[in-house]
Amino acid sequence: MSDCIFCKIASGEIPSTKVYEDDQILCFKDLNPMAPVHVLFIPKEHICCADEITSENSSVVAHIFEVIPKVAKELGLENGYRVVTNCKEEAGQTVFHLHFHLLGGKKLNTEMA
Ligand code: C5P
Repeated sequence: MSDCIFCKIASGEIPSTKVYEDDQILCFKDLNPMAPVHVLFIPKEHICCADEITSENSSVVAHIFEVIPKVAKELGLENGYRVVTNCKEEAGQTVFHLHFHLLGGKKLNTEMA
């Protein structure tokens, strides 16, 4: 999508602090970290949000979840971490390109909502 900021980050048109990249996905540091470690995992293909995950595109989501433990280990999150995705406005989604927040590095607030 030409006007999607995360598509532009995925293509390199907008710079990011990359933590992990392969042909399918990118992980980069969140610009406004909410925890000592806060990175985002995105598929390079444009998927709007969790509602748009289908049997045709779900393999990239599975791939993200395979990579998350490796990156978490590299980032020193041996004591635990949280993975979150916000789907649509009411959940607080502000960038409409599927992304998973990986948060850790401190005792996280356990309130879910
Ligand atoms: O789940 P939500 O859509 O609110 O998350 C978007 C996240 O993308 C925010 O944490 C925001 O700080 C981050 N962001 C970023 N770089 C941008 C735009 C947004 O890291 N250029």
